[in-house]
Amino acid sequence: MKRLLLAVLAALLALAAAGYWFVMQTRAGQDMALEFATGALTAPAATPPADTLRVVMCGTASPLGAVGRRACVAVLVGKRFYLVDAGAGSGQTLTLERIPAQHLEAVFITHYHSDHIDGLPNHNQRSWVAGRPAPLQVVGPPGIEEVVAGFNRAYAQDRQHRIDHHGEDLLPPALGVMQPRVIEPGVVHDADGLRITAFVVDHSPVAPAFGYRFDYKGRSVVVSGDTVVTPSLESMAAGVDLLIHDALSEPLVSAMAARANPRMQKVLVDVLDYHAHTTDVAALAERIGVRKLAFYHLVPVPQNTLMAAIFMRDIPDSVVLTEDGMTFDLPGGSEDILVDGQRG
Ligand SMILES: [Zn+2]
Ligand SMILES: [Zn+2]
Repeated sequence: MKRLLLAVLAALLALAAAGYWFVMQTRAGQDMALEFATGALTAPAATPPADTLRVVMCGTASPLGAVGRRACVAVLVGKRFYLVDAGAGSGQTLTLERIPAQHLEAVFITHYHSDHIDGLPNHNQRSWVAGRPAPLQVVGPPGIEEVVAGFNRAYAQDRQHRIDHHGEDLLPPALGVMQPRVIEPGVVHDADGLRITAFVVDHSPVAPAFGYRFDYKGRSVVVSGDTVVTPSLESMAAGVDLLIHDALSEPLVSAMAARANPRMQKVLVDVLDYHAHTTDVAALAERIGVRKLAFYHLVPVPQNTLMAAIFMRDIPDSVVLTEDGMTFDLPGGSEDILVDGQRG
């Protein structure tokens, strides 16, 4: 009996090895696998249910660290989606998550540090090529006109090359030019059940700096942008379903500063009072009745499990350390908050 089992096991292993060789080393096997895989890779992700507020973390990193895509939070309502910030690499996350780029409605910028805007041209280009039906709206505090005009000018040749290549029917020139919209704090969007509210945060000496709140079907999400814990954020985030807050690990940044050269030591010490410390955000969330707290814009980005453990030191288990591609679903008419499809 034992011999028979061993023989069956050996036969199965040989079969698996032969199958692996067929797929990896023969043209027929590669083509077969390609047909199967491209179908799965190119199919768009399922649209969220009509009453669900969905958040996809397109960029969770800060400039401090060697891994991760920079600040970007996608908020999806049905097919439409909105971005809060457009950090470098964040378009790749949306590609990996198979979110159809043509449904990008607008980008809301929190402030004009490079890590919040350096992926903007990529979002514009990928949504234009995918068939976005209107120019991309880029919304932010005063200063947005200059940022958008600069990117539009820098990418003028790129747009023309693409129009020359693919034709104006496929790429209407006017749709490739981003449109700035200057906003003041308050309700900045209210249509089809979705309300977006801008509010001032404290990222001194950067001013103005905004955070954004999204309300849809009785569910709510606040994205802090870069800030320390500040009263305006406390009132906007009181009782919110999901607070996505920038977070700095004091033990990690202090350890890095202690070993840095004098120049970088000055930079790291300056950074300490300009993002919210993890423990301060956790205490805030507890104090104001936030239902789910998630850290993003991680300062520094944990590169391994040890760093992640130190980052989450003294933080309740319920708090989420976000990663690129992580998804939160808030179904209407319920109190559920699903993290990557699981009840969180
Ligand atoms: Zn900043
Ligand atoms: Zn930043």
